[in-house]
Amino acid sequence: MVFGLFSKQVDPICGMKVSKDSQHKSEYNGKTYYFCALNCKQTFDKNPEKYAK
Ligand SMILES: [Zn+2]
Repeated sequence: MVFGLFSKQVDPICGMKVSKDSQHKSEYNGKTYYFCALNCKQTFDKNPEKYAK
């Protein structure tokens, strides 16, 4: 297994580490954001500019 294959992203809502194969993700400003749960994704989608860096 190649280390780094599942590089970790940080959920911008709750700060949890999320793997890139998470099914909860959103695109904003050309970047993809990953979330631990649908609830976090929905929070982001409501107000993406607050959370996107
Ligand atoms: Zn989360």
